Amino acid sequence: MSSWRDSLTSLPGAVAQFVNDSASTASSYLHSQSCTSGSEESAPQHSDYKALPIPASLVKEQWRLIFTSDANIQDLQAAIAHCRDLVLLSDECSEERRWLVRHLIDLRYSLQELEEAQAHVGDDVVLMSAIKSVVGHHFVPHYPSTRNRLQAAAKRYYCDYCTGIIWRVVQAAYICSDCSYLVHQKCIDSVQRVCAHVLASERQYPISEICPEIGLSEQRYKCAECSTLLNFKNSWIEPRLCDYRGLYYCPSCHWNDSFIVPARIVHNWDFTPRRVSRTGLQEIQLFLDKPLIRLEEENPKLFVFLEKLCAVKKLRQNLVHMRHYLAACKIAVEQKIVDQQLGGRRHLAQSNEFYSLRDLIQVESGALADFLQSVFRVFGAHIRACDMCLAKAYICEICSNNEVIFPFDDGCIKCDQCNSIYHRVCLTRKNMICPKCVRIQERRLQLDRSTSRQTDNENANSANESSDAVQPTDTTT
Ligand SMILES: [Zn+2]
Ligand SMILES: [Zn+2]
Ligand SMILES: [Zn+2]
Ligand SMILES: [Zn+2]
Ligand SMILES: [Zn+2]
Ligand SMILES: [Zn+2]
Repeated sequence: MSSWRDSLTSLPGAVAQFVNDSASTASSYLHSQSCTSGSEESAPQHSDYKALPIPASLVKEQWRLIFTSDANIQDLQAAIAHCRDLVLLSDECSEERRWLVRHLIDLRYSLQELEEAQAHVGDDVVLMSAIKSVVGHHFVPHYPSTRNRLQAAAKRYYCDYCTGIIWRVVQAAYICSDCSYLVHQKCIDSVQRVCAHVLASERQYPISEICPEIGLSEQRYKCAECSTLLNFKNSWIEPRLCDYRGLYYCPSCHWNDSFIVPARIVHNWDFTPRRVSRTGLQEIQLFLDKPLIRLEEENPKLFVFLEKLCAVKKLRQNLVHMRHYLAACKIAVEQKIVDQQLGGRRHLAQSNEFYSLRDLIQVESGALADFLQSVFRVFGAHIRACDMCLAKAYICEICSNNEVIFPFDDGCIKCDQCNSIYHRVCLTRKNMICPKCVRIQERRLQLDRSTSRQTDNENANSANESSDAVQPTDTTT
């Protein structure tokens, strides 16, 4: 039986035990429950846990309170004792007490789970093979890094199959190297969800319609992933809509994770996180860094009214110009300036057409403009100090000033026809008519005139020659 259900049935037990310990805290527990949203309560434990951040006054206690997947039974018992002491010391009805009481229940529930896992420890000790392939996943043994203690302290690991906690001390686990699906060793052969990496590469592009819902009847009231029957309005199996895929899932396949939805960003510039299924979440995360979105083609109006987007587009256009310089410069290529600055985000300076989801999130937060500015400064510093690059600079022929200019300079403008660069003010003085293009046009006209005169003469000559044979006429009219 999956553990989210266990958690629901075991909660009242935890409360009962708690009432025995302290009547006043139990009442505040109930109070805290009525203050939080009802929908949260039916979610698996993890979303509850994330929903309540630790109060600032308790941060210094977190090492003794927060348990991780690395915890053992003694750790949990110590945390429970400490938490209970803190509950008694906290003010009634305070934020601290609410958090502590919830946390205490969480700890007790976890202890119970760990004890159960411990009882089955013998079943699990099978040698872990290096790689296991199941429905498209490539599972490798999972050893969470303990380098960052702060991150590790906040981290609990859950099995994507059975939704239970993975107790690292007694349980072995695998993770998919492609999509990060995490699973108990004991659950690995039951995995049904096809690897999100396989789905994403088949689809090639994130779903572009907003929540393309087909309805429960069309799904025959079955979870879109595991086919569990979703009895509508049944108190246990509640259908959960995935805002990304538009399908309904059971609570084992949909943990009420919140995440941005690509189609909502592209069509509505809406970054509000929505509830998505596990498979939806894994798929969106795989698309996060792929530059696949032709935003201007999909939603041109965005570039009209979103100033931040216009600024990013302009910056990227400038970087494209600069990249041409750097790609042609031996020194810049040797120093790998482009790679060093852009790393895996080279697309940003290859055109200004494609965006990844992360790019769009960072457009909204302003981080992308800052990043592009810093790249712009580094590229510019090289180009202005490098003889090879300077040799390809321009001089404005309208004002004949000796100052060198580049297509990416502020206040400079490029003629789209002949690629000449001018000061914007200079070209404005000329009514935006490019003098070089005028010269080219004049020369072309001259050439046309002279060639037409030439052909006229040739025609006249050949006419004369033929007229000699027939009869003389006056050709100079
Ligand atoms: Zn996978
Ligand atoms: Zn499991
Ligand atoms: Zn399901
Ligand atoms: Zn150079
Ligand atoms: Zn000028
Ligand atoms: Zn021109």
